[in-house]
Amino acid sequence: MSYQPLVVPWADALWNKLARQHAESRLPHAILLTGHTGTGKIEFAQAFAHLLLCHQPHNHQPCGVCRGCELLSSGNHPDLVHLHPAEAGKAIKVDQVRELLQFLHNTAQQGGYRVVVMEPAENMNINAANALLKSLEEPGNNTLLLLVSHQPGQLMPTIRSRCQQVGFPMPKPEEAIPWLTQQLDIDAERAEQLLRITQGAPLKARLLYQNDRISFRAGFMTGLVDLLKARTTAVTLAEKFYKEDLLQLLEWMHSLLVDIARLQADGDMQKISNTDMFKMLNAVAKKTTVVKLYALIDKLQAERISLMERHNPNRQLLLETLLLEWVGLVR
Ligand SMILES: [Zn+2]
Repeated sequence: MSYQPLVVPWADALWNKLARQHAESRLPHAILLTGHTGTGKIEFAQAFAHLLLCHQPHNHQPCGVCRGCELLSSGNHPDLVHLHPAEAGKAIKVDQVRELLQFLHNTAQQGGYRVVVMEPAENMNINAANALLKSLEEPGNNTLLLLVSHQPGQLMPTIRSRCQQVGFPMPKPEEAIPWLTQQLDIDAERAEQLLRITQGAPLKARLLYQNDRISFRAGFMTGLVDLLKARTTAVTLAEKFYKEDLLQLLEWMHSLLVDIARLQADGDMQKISNTDMFKMLNAVAKKTTVVKLYALIDKLQAERISLMERHNPNRQLLLETLLLEWVGLVR
Protein backbone atom coordinates (compact mmCIF):
# COMPACT_ATOMS: atom_id res chain seq x y z
CA MET A 1 0.00 0.00 0.00
CA SER A 2 1.53 3.29 -0.95
CA TYR A 3 0.54 6.32 0.99
CA GLN A 4 -0.18 9.43 -1.03
CA PRO A 5 -0.52 12.59 0.98
CA LEU A 6 -2.52 15.40 -0.50
CA VAL A 7 -0.09 18.10 -1.45
CA VAL A 8 -1.28 20.50 -4.05
CA PRO A 9 1.26 21.09 -6.82
CA TRP A 10 1.62 24.83 -6.10
CA ALA A 11 2.96 23.95 -2.64
CA ASP A 12 5.64 21.53 -3.90
CA ALA A 13 8.50 23.96 -3.31
CA LEU A 14 7.30 24.77 0.19
CA TRP A 15 6.92 21.07 0.96
CA ASN A 16 10.44 20.31 -0.17
CA LYS A 17 11.85 23.19 1.80
CA LEU A 18 10.19 22.12 5.06
CA ALA A 19 10.87 18.44 4.47
CA ARG A 20 14.54 19.26 3.98
CA GLN A 21 14.57 21.26 7.22
CA HIS A 22 13.06 18.23 8.93
CA ALA A 23 15.61 15.84 7.41
CA GLU A 24 18.39 18.13 8.66
CA SER A 25 16.78 18.51 12.10
CA ARG A 26 16.37 22.23 11.56
CA LEU A 27 12.61 22.54 12.06
CA PRO A 28 11.42 25.20 14.50
CA HIS A 29 9.09 24.31 17.39
CA ALA A 30 6.23 26.31 16.06
CA ILE A 31 5.19 27.20 12.53
CA LEU A 32 2.46 29.63 11.60
CA LEU A 33 1.17 28.70 8.16
CA THR A 34 -0.69 31.64 6.65
CA GLY A 35 -2.55 32.25 3.42
CA HIS A 36 -5.92 32.52 1.74
CA THR A 37 -8.81 30.21 2.60
CA GLY A 38 -9.31 27.29 0.26
CA THR A 39 -5.79 27.04 -1.11
CA GLY A 40 -4.83 23.80 0.67
CA LYS A 41 -3.14 24.92 3.90
CA ILE A 42 -4.95 22.51 6.21
CA GLU A 43 -4.41 19.55 3.92
CA PHE A 44 -0.76 20.55 3.65
CA ALA A 45 -0.39 20.78 7.43
CA GLN A 46 -1.95 17.36 7.90
CA ALA A 47 0.22 15.81 5.23
CA PHE A 48 3.31 17.36 6.80
CA ALA A 49 2.30 15.98 10.19
CA HIS A 50 2.16 12.56 8.53
CA LEU A 51 5.66 13.00 7.18
CA LEU A 52 6.95 13.85 10.66
CA LEU A 53 5.26 10.83 12.21
CA CYS A 54 6.60 8.38 9.62
CA HIS A 55 9.57 6.40 10.92
CA GLN A 56 11.26 5.91 7.55
CA PRO A 57 10.32 8.65 5.09
CA HIS A 58 11.61 8.23 1.57
CA ASN A 59 12.29 11.11 -0.83
CA HIS A 60 10.53 13.52 1.51
CA GLN A 61 7.39 11.36 1.48
CA PRO A 62 5.93 9.08 4.18
CA CYS A 63 6.66 5.40 3.54
CA GLY A 64 3.09 4.22 4.03
CA VAL A 65 4.05 0.93 5.71
CA CYS A 66 5.72 1.67 9.04
CA ARG A 67 3.90 1.58 12.37
CA GLY A 68 3.53 5.38 12.34
CA CYS A 69 1.95 5.40 8.88
CA GLU A 70 -0.28 2.49 9.85
CA LEU A 71 -1.58 4.35 12.90
CA LEU A 72 -2.16 7.41 10.77
CA SER A 73 -4.17 5.60 8.17
CA SER A 74 -6.33 4.05 10.90
CA GLY A 75 -6.99 7.61 12.01
CA ASN A 76 -5.77 7.43 15.61
CA HIS A 77 -2.12 8.20 16.01
CA PRO A 78 -1.47 8.94 19.70
CA ASP A 79 1.18 11.56 18.93
CA LEU A 80 -0.95 13.69 16.64
CA VAL A 81 -3.47 16.23 17.83
CA HIS A 82 -5.77 18.07 15.47
CA LEU A 83 -7.20 21.01 17.33
CA HIS A 84 -10.11 22.94 15.82
CA PRO A 85 -13.29 24.63 17.06
CA ALA A 86 -15.93 22.21 18.33
CA GLU A 87 -18.26 23.71 15.73
CA ALA A 88 -17.23 25.44 12.53
CA GLY A 89 -16.86 29.16 13.04
CA LYS A 90 -16.78 28.92 16.85
CA ALA A 91 -13.90 29.70 19.15
CA ILE A 92 -11.08 27.38 20.19
CA LYS A 93 -11.50 27.42 23.95
CA VAL A 94 -9.11 27.41 26.87
CA ASP A 95 -10.20 23.91 27.94
CA GLN A 96 -9.13 22.58 24.58
CA VAL A 97 -5.74 24.22 24.95
CA ARG A 98 -5.37 22.84 28.49
CA GLU A 99 -5.93 19.33 27.13
CA LEU A 100 -3.29 20.08 24.55
CA LEU A 101 -0.84 21.16 27.24
CA GLN A 102 -1.42 17.84 28.97
CA PHE A 103 -0.62 16.08 25.71
CA LEU A 104 2.58 18.10 25.35
CA HIS A 105 3.52 17.23 28.91
CA ASN A 106 3.61 13.50 28.10
CA THR A 107 6.35 11.90 26.05
CA ALA A 108 5.72 10.67 22.53
CA GLN A 109 4.13 7.25 22.68
CA GLN A 110 5.68 6.07 19.45
CA GLY A 111 9.10 7.44 20.37
CA GLY A 112 9.23 9.97 17.55
CA TYR A 113 7.73 13.34 16.86
CA ARG A 114 4.64 14.83 18.44
CA VAL A 115 2.64 17.08 16.18
CA VAL A 116 -0.18 19.49 16.80
CA VAL A 117 -2.18 20.92 13.92
CA MET A 118 -4.34 23.82 15.04
CA GLU A 119 -6.77 25.48 12.66
CA PRO A 120 -7.87 28.16 12.32
CA ALA A 121 -5.48 29.54 14.91
CA GLU A 122 -7.17 32.96 14.89
CA ASN A 123 -10.24 31.30 16.41
CA MET A 124 -8.47 30.89 19.74
CA ASN A 125 -10.18 33.10 22.28
CA ILE A 126 -7.96 35.29 24.42
CA ASN A 127 -7.78 32.82 27.33
CA ALA A 128 -6.88 29.99 25.00
CA ALA A 129 -4.17 32.07 23.35
CA ASN A 130 -2.70 33.07 26.70
CA ALA A 131 -2.67 29.46 27.86
CA LEU A 132 -0.78 28.46 24.75
CA LEU A 133 1.91 31.14 24.93
CA LYS A 134 4.42 29.38 27.13
CA SER A 135 4.16 26.11 25.24
CA LEU A 136 4.89 27.91 22.02
CA GLU A 137 8.30 28.80 23.39
CA GLU A 138 9.21 25.43 24.80
CA PRO A 139 6.91 22.71 23.58
CA GLY A 140 9.54 20.05 24.30
CA ASN A 141 11.89 18.07 22.08
CA ASN A 142 10.77 16.64 18.76
CA THR A 143 7.56 18.57 18.87
CA LEU A 144 5.99 20.71 16.22
CA LEU A 145 3.08 23.05 16.72
CA LEU A 146 1.61 23.80 13.34
CA LEU A 147 -0.75 26.74 13.52
CA VAL A 148 -2.81 27.34 10.41
CA SER A 149 -4.29 30.79 9.93
CA HIS A 150 -6.40 32.43 7.24
CA GLN A 151 -6.36 35.78 9.11
CA PRO A 152 -2.98 36.05 10.91
CA GLY A 153 -3.72 39.73 11.61
CA GLN A 154 -6.36 38.59 14.09
CA LEU A 155 -3.83 36.60 16.11
CA MET A 156 -2.26 38.06 19.22
CA PRO A 157 1.14 39.54 18.29
CA THR A 158 2.70 37.51 21.11
CA ILE A 159 1.48 34.32 19.41
CA ARG A 160 2.74 35.45 16.01
CA SER A 161 6.17 36.40 17.32
CA ARG A 162 6.70 32.96 18.86
CA CYS A 163 6.15 31.13 15.57
CA GLN A 164 8.12 30.94 12.40
CA GLN A 165 5.75 32.44 9.89
CA VAL A 166 5.45 30.54 6.62
CA GLY A 167 3.37 31.94 3.77
CA PHE A 168 1.33 29.40 1.84
CA PRO A 169 1.36 30.13 -1.89
CA MET A 170 -1.70 31.24 -3.82
CA PRO A 171 -1.71 29.28 -7.08
CA LYS A 172 -1.46 31.01 -10.43
CA PRO A 173 -4.39 30.33 -12.79
CA GLU A 174 -2.12 28.13 -14.93
CA GLU A 175 -1.55 25.92 -11.86
CA ALA A 176 -5.07 26.03 -10.48
CA ILE A 177 -7.04 25.44 -13.68
CA PRO A 178 -5.41 22.12 -14.69
CA TRP A 179 -5.59 20.89 -11.08
CA LEU A 180 -9.30 21.67 -10.83
CA THR A 181 -10.01 20.27 -14.29
CA GLN A 182 -8.45 17.00 -13.26
CA GLN A 183 -9.98 16.89 -9.77
CA LEU A 184 -13.53 17.44 -10.96
CA ASP A 185 -13.32 16.05 -14.47
CA ILE A 186 -14.60 19.29 -15.97
CA ASP A 187 -13.38 21.45 -18.83
CA ALA A 188 -11.00 24.36 -18.41
CA GLU A 189 -13.64 27.00 -19.07
CA ARG A 190 -15.82 25.67 -16.27
CA ALA A 191 -12.81 25.46 -13.96
CA GLU A 192 -11.94 29.06 -14.72
CA GLN A 193 -15.47 30.17 -13.92
CA LEU A 194 -15.44 28.33 -10.58
CA LEU A 195 -12.09 29.88 -9.74
CA ARG A 196 -13.38 33.36 -10.48
CA ILE A 197 -16.31 32.85 -8.13
CA THR A 198 -13.97 31.67 -5.37
CA GLN A 199 -11.33 34.38 -5.92
CA GLY A 200 -8.83 31.90 -7.27
CA ALA A 201 -8.98 29.46 -4.33
CA PRO A 202 -8.98 25.97 -5.88
CA LEU A 203 -10.10 23.93 -2.86
CA LYS A 204 -12.96 26.32 -2.30
CA ALA A 205 -13.86 25.93 -5.96
CA ARG A 206 -13.80 22.16 -5.61
CA LEU A 207 -16.08 22.31 -2.58
CA LEU A 208 -18.46 24.62 -4.39
CA TYR A 209 -18.80 22.13 -7.20
CA GLN A 210 -18.82 18.91 -5.17
CA ASN A 211 -21.36 19.83 -2.55
CA ASP A 212 -23.71 21.01 -5.21
CA ARG A 213 -23.26 24.44 -3.74
CA ILE A 214 -23.09 25.71 -7.27
CA SER A 215 -26.83 25.20 -7.69
CA PHE A 216 -27.41 26.60 -4.21
CA ARG A 217 -25.49 29.69 -5.32
CA ALA A 218 -27.47 29.85 -8.55
CA GLY A 219 -30.71 29.78 -6.53
CA PHE A 220 -29.55 32.62 -4.34
CA MET A 221 -28.40 34.69 -7.33
CA THR A 222 -31.76 34.18 -9.03
CA GLY A 223 -33.38 35.37 -5.82
CA LEU A 224 -31.29 38.55 -5.88
CA VAL A 225 -32.27 39.23 -9.50
CA ASP A 226 -35.95 38.60 -8.71
CA LEU A 227 -35.70 40.97 -5.79
CA LEU A 228 -34.35 43.76 -8.00
CA LYS A 229 -37.15 43.15 -10.48
CA ALA A 230 -39.75 43.10 -7.67
CA ARG A 231 -40.73 39.52 -8.49
CA THR A 232 -40.14 38.58 -4.86
CA THR A 233 -39.74 40.34 -1.53
CA ALA A 234 -36.91 40.52 0.98
CA VAL A 235 -39.14 38.77 3.53
CA THR A 236 -39.82 35.80 1.25
CA LEU A 237 -36.22 35.47 0.22
CA ALA A 238 -34.91 35.72 3.78
CA GLU A 239 -37.40 33.07 4.85
CA LYS A 240 -36.14 30.78 2.12
CA PHE A 241 -32.44 31.18 2.88
CA TYR A 242 -31.82 32.10 6.51
CA LYS A 243 -31.33 28.50 7.66
CA GLU A 244 -28.65 27.94 5.05
CA ASP A 245 -24.96 28.72 5.41
CA LEU A 246 -25.39 32.41 6.20
CA LEU A 247 -21.67 33.19 6.23
CA GLN A 248 -21.43 31.83 2.73
CA LEU A 249 -24.38 33.94 1.55
CA LEU A 250 -22.81 37.05 3.04
CA GLU A 251 -19.52 36.24 1.39
CA TRP A 252 -21.24 35.91 -1.99
CA MET A 253 -23.10 39.19 -1.51
CA HIS A 254 -19.85 40.85 -0.55
CA SER A 255 -18.18 39.55 -3.67
CA LEU A 256 -21.05 40.90 -5.83
CA LEU A 257 -20.75 44.33 -4.25
CA VAL A 258 -17.01 44.42 -4.84
CA ASP A 259 -17.69 43.55 -8.48
CA ILE A 260 -20.23 46.38 -8.73
CA ALA A 261 -17.68 48.80 -7.30
CA ARG A 262 -15.16 47.62 -9.91
CA LEU A 263 -17.66 48.05 -12.72
CA GLN A 264 -18.46 51.56 -11.52
CA ALA A 265 -14.78 52.41 -11.41
CA ASP A 266 -13.91 51.42 -14.98
CA GLY A 267 -16.58 49.13 -16.43
CA ASP A 268 -14.02 46.45 -17.18
CA MET A 269 -15.71 43.06 -17.20
CA GLN A 270 -12.35 41.31 -17.08
CA LYS A 271 -11.83 42.46 -13.51
CA ILE A 272 -14.95 41.01 -11.96
CA SER A 273 -15.31 37.67 -10.15
CA ASN A 274 -18.95 36.84 -10.84
CA THR A 275 -18.85 36.95 -14.61
CA ASP A 276 -21.99 34.81 -14.81
CA MET A 277 -23.91 37.63 -13.09
CA PHE A 278 -22.57 40.40 -15.32
CA LYS A 279 -25.98 41.60 -16.51
CA MET A 280 -27.31 42.07 -12.99
CA LEU A 281 -24.06 43.61 -11.73
CA ASN A 282 -23.92 46.06 -14.60
CA ALA A 283 -27.55 47.11 -14.11
CA VAL A 284 -26.94 47.81 -10.40
CA ALA A 285 -23.65 49.58 -11.12
CA LYS A 286 -25.47 52.01 -13.44
CA LYS A 287 -28.20 52.83 -10.95
CA THR A 288 -26.56 52.92 -7.53
CA THR A 289 -24.30 55.43 -5.82
CA VAL A 290 -20.85 54.93 -4.36
CA VAL A 291 -22.14 55.99 -0.95
CA LYS A 292 -24.90 53.38 -0.86
CA LEU A 293 -22.56 50.73 -2.17
CA TYR A 294 -19.85 51.23 0.42
CA ALA A 295 -22.35 51.58 3.24
CA LEU A 296 -23.64 48.12 2.38
CA ILE A 297 -20.16 46.68 1.97
CA ASP A 298 -19.26 47.96 5.46
CA LYS A 299 -22.46 46.60 6.92
CA LEU A 300 -21.86 43.18 5.38
CA GLN A 301 -18.35 43.08 6.80
CA ALA A 302 -19.63 43.96 10.26
CA GLU A 303 -22.33 41.28 10.08
CA ARG A 304 -19.83 38.68 8.91
CA ILE A 305 -17.59 39.39 11.88
CA SER A 306 -20.50 39.31 14.28
CA LEU A 307 -21.62 35.98 12.84
CA MET A 308 -18.12 34.53 13.18
CA GLU A 309 -17.90 35.71 16.76
CA ARG A 310 -21.26 34.14 17.41
CA HIS A 311 -23.21 36.97 18.90
CA ASN A 312 -26.23 34.83 18.10
CA PRO A 313 -28.00 37.31 15.90
CA ASN A 314 -31.53 36.79 14.64
CA ARG A 315 -30.51 35.19 11.37
CA GLN A 316 -33.74 35.76 9.51
CA LEU A 317 -33.88 39.43 10.45
CA LEU A 318 -30.21 39.89 9.63
CA LEU A 319 -30.64 38.47 6.14
CA GLU A 320 -33.87 40.37 5.55
CA THR A 321 -32.22 43.68 6.48
CA LEU A 322 -29.33 43.04 4.13
CA LEU A 323 -31.66 42.07 1.30
CA LEU A 324 -33.69 45.23 1.82
CA GLU A 325 -30.50 47.24 1.50
CA TRP A 326 -29.62 45.28 -1.60
CA VAL A 327 -32.89 46.44 -3.24
CA GLY A 328 -32.24 49.87 -1.77
CA LEU A 329 -29.12 50.10 -3.97
CA VAL A 330 -31.29 50.76 -7.04
CA ARG A 331 -34.24 52.56 -5.48
ZN1 LIG B 1 6.06 5.48 7.44
